[in-house]
Amino acid sequence: ADDLPKPESTRVLTISNQKGGVGKTTTAVNLAAALARQGAKVLVIDLDPQGNASTALGVEHHAEISSVYDVIVGDVPLGEVVQRSPEFGELYCVPATIHLAGAEIELVSMVAREQRLRRALDLHLRELDDPYDYVFIDCPPSLGLLTINAFVAAREVLIPIQCEYYALEGLSQLLKNIKLIEKHLNPDLTVSTILLTMYDGRTNLANQVAQDVRDHFPNEVLKTLIPRSVRVSEAPSYGQSVVSYDLNSAGSLSYLEAAAEIARRGAPLTGR
Ligand code: ADP
Ligand code: MG
Repeated sequence: ADDLPKPESTRVLTISNQKGGVGKTTTAVNLAAALARQGAKVLVIDLDPQGNASTALGVEHHAEISSVYDVIVGDVPLGEVVQRSPEFGELYCVPATIHLAGAEIELVSMVAREQRLRRALDLHLRELDDPYDYVFIDCPPSLGLLTINAFVAAREVLIPIQCEYYALEGLSQLLKNIKLIEKHLNPDLTVSTILLTMYDGRTNLANQVAQDVRDHFPNEVLKTLIPRSVRVSEAPSYGQSVVSYDLNSAGSLSYLEAAAEIARRGAPLTGR
C-alpha cells in the first residue's frame, strides 16, 4: 500500500464512549496498527486498567512493569514507559497495569488532577526528534478522572458506535460532557470522527442505526464501516492487531480503509 499523507504535527485522538463493549479498544489498536502499517509513527496510550490494548499490541503489562499509572500518579516521564509493539513498523504503546484501577481514587486529591496526562504527553512530544504522527488514547468505559485526563490531553475525540438499538442513547450525555470539558478544561477539543463498528449489514436495525447516526453527524461519521467479524475478535488472543493477524480479512481491510480516511481528512481546523 502507498504511504498515507502525514499530519503536519502530532494528532492526539482519544477513543471515547462511556459504554463498554462498543469497540473502543479494538478501534484504538487496529487503527493504530493500520496507520503504522501504512507508514505512520503511532503511539497507543492504554488508559484502561483492564490493559486490553496492551494485550492486543503484544506489550508486557504485568504488575511489575512501569506503566501509565506511574506517569499519571507518580512523576515518571512518559518516555520511560513507552514500549515498542512487536507488530511491525513504528508502533508503540504505553501499557496499563492493574495498578491503574486505583488511580481514579488517588487522583482525586492531586494537584492539577485533570492535566496530568496532558503535561506528561506534551513533555514527551517536545523531547522527540522524530515525532509521532498519531497518538491514540484508549479510555475506560466511564466518565471518571482517567477519561477526563484523556479529554484534556487530546485535540480530537473519536467515538466508536456499535450499530445497535441503544447506540444513540448514551451519546447525548457523552457529547454534553465533551462540551463541558471544552468549556472548562480544553478549548481545543473537537469530536472529529465517528466510526460505526460491529456492523452487520444483514439486519435492518443495523442499517437503520447507521443511517440515523449519519443523519445526525454527517461530517464526523467515516464512510468506512467496521463489519462484525470473527477475525477481529480472535486477534487479541494472539497478542496481535487484526491487521497483522489476518491482513486480508474483512476486518483488517476495513480498519486500513478507516485509517486512510482519517489520514486523508487531516486534522480538524483550529480557531473558533
Ligand atoms: P470496549 O473497549 O469499548 O469495551 P472492545 O473493543 O473491547 O470494546 O470490544 C468488545 C468486544 O467486542 C471484544 O470482545 C471484541 O473482540 C469484540 N469486537 C470488537 N469489534 C468487533 C468486530 N468488528 N467484530 C467482532 N467482534 C468485535
Ligand atoms: Mg476497552
